[in-house]
Amino acid sequence: MKIPFRLSILALLSLSLSNLSWADEVNIYSARKEALIKPLLDKFTQQTGIEVNLVTGKADALIKRLQSEGRNSPADVLITTDAGRLHRAKAANLLQPVVSAVIEKQVPAKYRDPEGYWTGLSVRSRVIMFNKEKVDPAELSTYEDLAASKWKRRICVRSSNNIYNQSLVASMIAANGEESTAQWAKGLVANLARPPRGGDRDQIKAVAAGQCDIALANTYYLAKMIHSGKAEQLAVTEKIGVFWPNQKDRGAHVNISGAGITAHAANREQAVKLLEFLVSDAAQKWYAESNQEYPVSANVPVSEILAQWGSFKSDAINLAELGKNNAQAVKIMDRAGWR
Ligand code: FE
Repeated sequence: MKIPFRLSILALLSLSLSNLSWADEVNIYSARKEALIKPLLDKFTQQTGIEVNLVTGKADALIKRLQSEGRNSPADVLITTDAGRLHRAKAANLLQPVVSAVIEKQVPAKYRDPEGYWTGLSVRSRVIMFNKEKVDPAELSTYEDLAASKWKRRICVRSSNNIYNQSLVASMIAANGEESTAQWAKGLVANLARPPRGGDRDQIKAVAAGQCDIALANTYYLAKMIHSGKAEQLAVTEKIGVFWPNQKDRGAHVNISGAGITAHAANREQAVKLLEFLVSDAAQKWYAESNQEYPVSANVPVSEILAQWGSFKSDAINLAELGKNNAQAVKIMDRAGWR
């Protein structure tokens, strides 16, 4: 009887040790800026009594930091603004799977990792934005069509080292295969009005200024310029039309901001509660609205600005595929001379 008794004491002891934490808290590494998430985290603390500690930085730097800290990392949750980077974190064994009925109910499967390593928190589409004076939307159709010669020297797009472009190209590899996507990338590069520079907002401004006729950009950049209410930004956005590509086939390319729980999270239970809170209807409404993104949850209405652009068909691909195709996408863009 002695041995089982000792074993059970040990089991009890280790159980209580693992439950012992100094405070009820959760620690986040976030590639999303503090202003965009802090008010929501404060609401979480009010509701649950769980303190939230937030470290913000660039996604790749945070992923490196998680890697070098290993099991000593204080981080419980990683937040990024792209599924591609969550996939990278998962592939580097930095995340752990979560099974949550709440997350499964709130977040459509295509916005979650199939093995539960990460979930989307908000959705954005990468669309064609065009100068309303220069382009008849009837001329626009698909991402594929942007390689057609009629767009010669008319397109602005940011550089290929940007993950949004990498994920778009990854989605095209999934839809059309590598060879066809490589051809397309060459055609797109041949149609650029200028060498890639600046962020999405700079492409939108260049379209408004007449430096190019169309650009690829994420929906929230334009929405936030409108939301700012500032005269000089409104002067830009008034010239811009939004076109949803590929509505007659797979749908427009979408991506997420999202989060996963770290492999060595000391506050796993609190971290799960936080993710469940972030996908709840109330949090989704605030989060999507203040970032001018689409909620992941279909129950939650979109902001007034987004509502003006109407509803659209989005690509049904599971976003985990974007991460899987990322290396191939980078290679294709590089070979096409997309700087
Ligand atoms: Fe962004």
